[in-house]
Amino acid sequence: MPFQSSSDLLQRSLAAVWHPCTQMKHHETLPLVPIVRGEGAWLIDADGRRLLDGISSWWVNLFGHCNRRINAALREQLETLEHVMLAGFTHPPAVELAERLAALTGHRLGHAFYASDGASATEIALKMSVHYWRNRGEAGKNRFISLAGSYHGETAGALAVTDVALFRDAYAPLVRPGATVPTPDIRLAVAGESASSLARRAAQALEAHLAEHHAETAALIVEPLVQGASGMVMYDAEYLRQARALCDHYQVHLIADEIAVGCGRTGTFFAWEQVAADDAAGWPDFICLSKGISGGYLPLSLVLSSDDIYAAFYDDSSTRAFLHSHSYTGNPLACRAALATLDIFREDDVVAENRGRAERMRRQADERFANHPAVRHLRQQGMILAFDVDTGTLGAGEFARRFFAAALDHGLLLRPIGNTVYFMPPYVLGEDELRHLVDGAAAALERALR
Ligand SMILES: *Cc1c(COP(=O)(O)O)cnc(C)c1O
Repeated sequence: MPFQSSSDLLQRSLAAVWHPCTQMKHHETLPLVPIVRGEGAWLIDADGRRLLDGISSWWVNLFGHCNRRINAALREQLETLEHVMLAGFTHPPAVELAERLAALTGHRLGHAFYASDGASATEIALKMSVHYWRNRGEAGKNRFISLAGSYHGETAGALAVTDVALFRDAYAPLVRPGATVPTPDIRLAVAGESASSLARRAAQALEAHLAEHHAETAALIVEPLVQGASGMVMYDAEYLRQARALCDHYQVHLIADEIAVGCGRTGTFFAWEQVAADDAAGWPDFICLSKGISGGYLPLSLVLSSDDIYAAFYDDSSTRAFLHSHSYTGNPLACRAALATLDIFREDDVVAENRGRAERMRRQADERFANHPAVRHLRQQGMILAFDVDTGTLGAGEFARRFFAAALDHGLLLRPIGNTVYFMPPYVLGEDELRHLVDGAAAALERALR
């Protein structure tokens, strides 16, 4: 049945669609936003209202909605091959994408295992790590370590390394929780302590844990440089250099979950490039990618792993193989969208372009927020900018809902995480759009606090 009006669309959505990460009852007072079209950095709702997508539609969109180049690649792929199973079969987009990503790691992680969602990539990396140790005769190494406030997805396995009580507590009986070690969150620095000495302090806690538990530990999993879901927590790359050295020393894998921070968000294509910049520090054993890799078009995730990992599974015996699979593994359309995304990175020199864009975003945000009486810890890592708000007597959840609604009224999609407001826009914002983003956020802040 066609939709009669935007309110018809909303009512039918609430009746038929169970929305993610949502207490559905809240929609008795907070209206859903009915989107019918996308155009560059903008989403257009059923009443023609234009919203600037300040958070890249949950951190996935890189080059705007309905991007001409990605659309063209997808149209061509659609007329060529829409899907084929990847067990026993292969196809050009899956191969080319794996090769190009391997090249971007300097061929340190040359084996791509495909899946669809971020959480599946986490599960794959965790399973591969444990299975690796089992194949090497160390079945006792089957525990994981993550940072306080970590988020690595919400399936039952991924919840083992997700330290967000709200997402985990209800499912505690299903989850075998890993250990958490202190986060190097720069906001925790004591007076006079630099981000890098705080990082070393946090690494000492990791070392203490490893010294005691390495024999039963398979892997440490981290969100490099920015812990997204716990509120854009930022930390110094020194922590990751130390963690890499400690994992080497104690024979524990290091999994870099770049699902959110990969694809240029932190200022380099892989966040890890900033860790290994001088080549003194090694690369992770695994990198998980999803979200931006398809340009924000289609569900696609993958786990890149090293030759050493791959070799531990290469054998005559099937029981030593990695038998994990998903039906849509390596879907050609999704891989093709990812190839078009990588083309744009190359043709437009996106990482370099974003340096200027990130600087302009910082300058404008500084003007509005650096001296704002309610703003704390204004911080930035590449194309991610965040600050915390002293909400006074207002609860953080209530603040977030009020800010979200006020931003919508200013033609802006922003969705604070508790009292943390953040910008994670697509890499297409021009000067006027940046201004719209920052001015709209400033106006929403005043209204949310009023
Ligand atoms: C979003 C996210 C995931 C989970 O990805 P989904 O596609 O939502 O399952 C895992 N890790 C990090 C760091 C994320 O930001």
